[in-house]
Amino acid sequence: MHCTLCPRQCGAERTPDAGHGFCRLPETMLIARIQPHLWEEPPISGVRGTGAIFFSGCTLRCAYCQNGDISHRNGGRPFTPAQLADSMRRLVDAGMHTISFITATPHLNGILDALDLYRPPVPLVWNTSGYETVETLRRLDGVIDVYLPDLKHRSEAMGRLCAKAPDYFAAASAAITEMVRQTGLPQYAPDGIMTRGTLIRHLILPGLTGESMQLLTWVAETLPGIPVSLMRQYIPMNGVDIRGLDRPITEREYRRVRDHMLALGLPGYLQEPESASTDFVPVFCQPESYI
Ligand code: SF4
Repeated sequence: MHCTLCPRQCGAERTPDAGHGFCRLPETMLIARIQPHLWEEPPISGVRGTGAIFFSGCTLRCAYCQNGDISHRNGGRPFTPAQLADSMRRLVDAGMHTISFITATPHLNGILDALDLYRPPVPLVWNTSGYETVETLRRLDGVIDVYLPDLKHRSEAMGRLCAKAPDYFAAASAAITEMVRQTGLPQYAPDGIMTRGTLIRHLILPGLTGESMQLLTWVAETLPGIPVSLMRQYIPMNGVDIRGLDRPITEREYRRVRDHMLALGLPGYLQEPESASTDFVPVFCQPESYI
């Protein structure tokens, strides 16, 4: 295949064994972990967890990624659509509230083939960097129930510096608008699980509270009623060597952004301070990483 699945628009050839685009992913699905996961937001994980499928590779590859072994270095095992369908069935049998496809965009074709074989009877969650094309998202219309996109950078300079993507905000803002068009305002089951909707995640970066506040203002003005999960878990990882990103955020920075979110009246979720720890990085690519 010649791939144009994400905004990089490489047009590069991806064969079953090799990939020549920015993400360097082959056409074959690669997966680094399939296990219950309890640490997403309450309407995604509930009390029993989401069935989290961590796909290998990433179209964004942020310099500070906490999952660098899979996002930058493409660790993972090859999976066929039939094998993925079997894994999803095991996750549902284990009682998962939802199934989460995490950083899955380059693997879209295999995922749709797997869902043709087995459609889990729980909400399907598309957990993404937000760096998506509207064309690719249209293929998920009516398939995905809940979108969980990041909204990371406002300025072209930070998109370029952190992810070689100066068009990040242009792409992500159009993509998130399309996600909301498809899903509408959030809907919840009696147990609090989101059955349909979009929940935007924003990770506060050190020294960049101004960008954070601009992004929250954009959500409030453009997408009223859409909840935001404000994340404070940033810690320097993946050998990040960008000046200013070599420390966690301060309490003062967190409060500044949180207070802006509250002043805007944005619905959503605030993260506990204990989340800024490597303890929450899952184990990838080991025998115990797969259900
Ligand atoms: S998914 Fe990979 S190969 Fe396809 S356009 Fe994006 S970066 Fe390029």
